Amino acid sequence: MRKPLVAGNWKMNKTVEQATLLVADMLPGLEAVKTVDRVLCPPFTSLMVVSGMLAGTEVGLGSQNLHWEDSGAYTGEISPLMVKEFCKYVIIGHSERRAYFGETDETVNLKVKAAFANDLLPIICVGETLEEFEAGKTEDVVAGQVKRGFDGIDSDTAQKLIVAYEPIWAIGTGKASSPEQANDIIKNVVRKNLASLFGVGTAEKIRILYGGSVKSNNANEFFSQSDIDGGLIGGASLKPEDFTKIVEAAA
Ligand code: PEP
Repeated sequence: MRKPLVAGNWKMNKTVEQATLLVADMLPGLEAVKTVDRVLCPPFTSLMVVSGMLAGTEVGLGSQNLHWEDSGAYTGEISPLMVKEFCKYVIIGHSERRAYFGETDETVNLKVKAAFANDLLPIICVGETLEEFEAGKTEDVVAGQVKRGFDGIDSDTAQKLIVAYEPIWAIGTGKASSPEQANDIIKNVVRKNLASLFGVGTAEKIRILYGGSVKSNNANEFFSQSDIDGGLIGGASLKPEDFTKIVEAAA
């Protein structure tokens, strides 16, 4: 059995003061749902204060990015050593990073290896654009992202991967994929390619999340699918009541 996981990606939202208020508001509700791994991913500036607030709880903390080098002349970047001072998780290769900041499957691969080398659990995002979806290229695109992104990782380590399938056309648009369609890609493309890289046994242990306009009113339908093990949540993770309901739906 794969334990469900729900992660909130706050993106570039919330000052430290706002983050403090938001966490205080949602923490009691999140703490109550023990059967789900719950993760908050605020901006870097709030990691320290949020990690203090989460201390002693089972709610995990994640960063939204990391560089693959431990230190050096990389202005504006953050190293795995800095991330791991506060976090257990790290989001890698989000479509916004790929689209606006030049991330590729090759840099994703370097970052995944750096995360594992530093005992961080990576949440790696894959997914196709609207154009690719309409051209019937979803399978090719997602399979390529999985193969290149996870190249050179051994099967034992791969069990700890967390993959988020996020069709880009569904992120922040209010247009979620249908739960059946998302499950089909997750099962027959993502998990199948993980099986050819790492073996069926390992692929069955890897948690695969769906992301893209998951809300409190549709979360149940996604999480009741056979191969969807939770969600990566953007907009709704900034709303305490909605996010808590999504976590409850995953339970
Ligand atoms: C995301 O940012 O990964 C995401 C899924 O966003 P939203 O839930 O707002 O579509």
